Amino acid sequence: MVMSGPQAFAGDWSARAERRQGRLVDLLCDLIALPSENPPGNEGQVAEFLGQYVARSGAEVRLQEVLPDRPNLLATWRFGPGDAEDSGPVLALVSHLDVVPAPPGSGLFKPEIRDGRVWGRGACDAKGSLAAMVVAAECLQEATDLVRGTLVLAALMGEETGGLGARALVASGFRADAAIIGEPTDLTLVTAHRGKATRRVTFRGRAAHAAQAFLGQNAVVAAARFISLLAESEGQVPEGTGPRLPRRTQITPTVIQGGLEFNVVPAECRVDLDCRLALDTQLTDLEHLLNNAVRAAARPWPGMIVRIETEGKDRNPVDLGVDHPLVQWARGALARHGATLELGACYPAATDQGVLLEDGNPTFALGPGALADAHTDEESVAVVDLVRAVAIFAALAHDAFSGTAPPKAARRG
Ligand SMILES: [Zn+2]
Repeated sequence: MVMSGPQAFAGDWSARAERRQGRLVDLLCDLIALPSENPPGNEGQVAEFLGQYVARSGAEVRLQEVLPDRPNLLATWRFGPGDAEDSGPVLALVSHLDVVPAPPGSGLFKPEIRDGRVWGRGACDAKGSLAAMVVAAECLQEATDLVRGTLVLAALMGEETGGLGARALVASGFRADAAIIGEPTDLTLVTAHRGKATRRVTFRGRAAHAAQAFLGQNAVVAAARFISLLAESEGQVPEGTGPRLPRRTQITPTVIQGGLEFNVVPAECRVDLDCRLALDTQLTDLEHLLNNAVRAAARPWPGMIVRIETEGKDRNPVDLGVDHPLVQWARGALARHGATLELGACYPAATDQGVLLEDGNPTFALGPGALADAHTDEESVAVVDLVRAVAIFAALAHDAFSGTAPPKAARRG
């Protein structure tokens, strides 16, 4: 980070954001206290609460039902005089309503404020971003020099399990000239994320009395061979050539299940894999690697049957590109407010950026908090970063809507 505190972030936006710090922290705590664990996906009550909240600040609110009681929330503010023909550039601030589940009894849904941080499930992933986006919209209403523009807050369901909400949003014909995904990026501008795929590999051999193990086909041993072959071959998937610190492809066995009894040669063993794809790699590279490893692992047992199944939706690796006009515009806009918006490395985790970008909406990710804190039992976000996020979102929207450098110019096809 180059900015050392909100006060170092020049311009009125820091001051306006700082004035709303109490409101911002309260809003985040209220959001944390409404569990929206996915699975199963209890986004309904958060969407309802947030919808009523933003309606009070003059937003048009729409709940887009994706699954029963699992809506996307869309809030729209229109700025400037505008006219019927042209509502100005559309800037979308996009984040998600769902959080990953918390261990029972962890107290993660009882928000706490200490050491200058807000603690609780969703603090950084991604209710901190949501709260900052809402408060940024409120700050923007104080501006008197806006020409025209439309700010859309899209608070999506289902992000943690493949992006069903984002897919529903783009399927409904949603269009933005620029979109910012609120995820914990440490307030760096992130243009790229790795792909994600989950695979379940099941080895089916033959049971036998363990005293005559040679009569069986041991599925647990085959699975163990498979896992060690994977570890050896991981480096064979081409490494991406993304612009900044390309992340490697990783295949991580996360669940293994097999066997019945001490004295029975196991007939079946299941391995679940979490796969992260580097930039410029394809799902076919992954299939190729898995097929080779499976074949090699099962070779000693000609009768062994292996099945590879896809679980959930695959997400492709994506990159807006650091040279994209939108990136240049955003960094220039912040520079005009005296702040530096640093470029972040390729994001290790897949986000809804990919879904929006693949549908033709220029999109990057930017939000308060660190990915290392997300999904942990000590999830938290620094209050100073929440305030800074408000100032950044507001400054960007201000520039987009004041006619100086609307992102519309940055729109690709
Ligand atoms: Zn997230």
